[in-house]
Amino acid sequence: IAKEFLPEDAESLICVPIVRSNEVLGILLLSSAKKRSYEKSQLMIVDILCSHFAIAIENAKHYEETKAKSERCALTKLFNYRYMEAKLNEEFSRLQNGEREFLSLIILDIDYFKKVNDTYGHQSGNEILCELAGRLANLIDEAGIAARYGGEEFVVLMPDTSKEDTLAWAELIRQTIANRPFILKQNIDGSSSSTKVYITASIGVAAAPEDADDSLALIRHADRALYVGAKRAGRNRVAEYVK
Ligand code: GH3
Ligand code: MG
Ligand code: MG
Repeated sequence: IAKEFLPEDAESLICVPIVRSNEVLGILLLSSAKKRSYEKSQLMIVDILCSHFAIAIENAKHYEETKAKSERCALTKLFNYRYMEAKLNEEFSRLQNGEREFLSLIILDIDYFKKVNDTYGHQSGNEILCELAGRLANLIDEAGIAARYGGEEFVVLMPDTSKEDTLAWAELIRQTIANRPFILKQNIDGSSSSTKVYITASIGVAAAPEDADDSLALIRHADRALYVGAKRAGRNRVAEYVK
């Protein structure tokens, strides 16, 4: 037994493994400064308690796993719509409390994605969604919270980031998608050669407090910037909300 787990004056020990499905999850260690301090009956009680302990640990693990799954999109492993809504409301409260100075939102929609599906197949479309999600998560990292908002729409929530800085992030996202082709492994014709597909996205940005008084308005205004400022203006561009 490693020394750091044992008091220096220990004279008696009870040591019981915590076992679940033939796997040792941990070890419970009791020690006493008195010699011959424990009796067999006490060992039996601790043993029973440890079997309950093992179940409790397993339940806690299941809970954590279920929670993690309920927050993520199964395809891309990014946060999902539900998680993003909750975060957005939480962060908006922080803004209103004065805990945060800004709260900005980036919303992006892949351009002509239906055509990509029609050309390369739905499975290839999924591969592109996953690759794009990976690029997005890598780029944003700790600077914000990236989520898959719907089919081919993604959102990045940026707490404490000014509109100007958020626009710069949005431009980086646009380039990260447009500048490098997406490599398809799965080909619709079954050939093994990989196909390069160039993808672009249109992006809208809105920021609180200047653009919105509540979380719904923030989404709506970012969405409006996306459709009016970016899609209608020709796609593959970043647009900010203007009143
Ligand atoms: P626009 O530039 O106007 O955004 O054109 P678009 O084709 O991207 O827009 P539209 O909304 O008409 O089509 C979105 C397409 O995204 C339709 C749908 O087949 C595809 N899509 C949505 N979710 C998924 C998905 O999970 N997997 C795949 N492969 N395709 C998806
Ligand atoms: Mg769309
Ligand atoms: Mg689209």
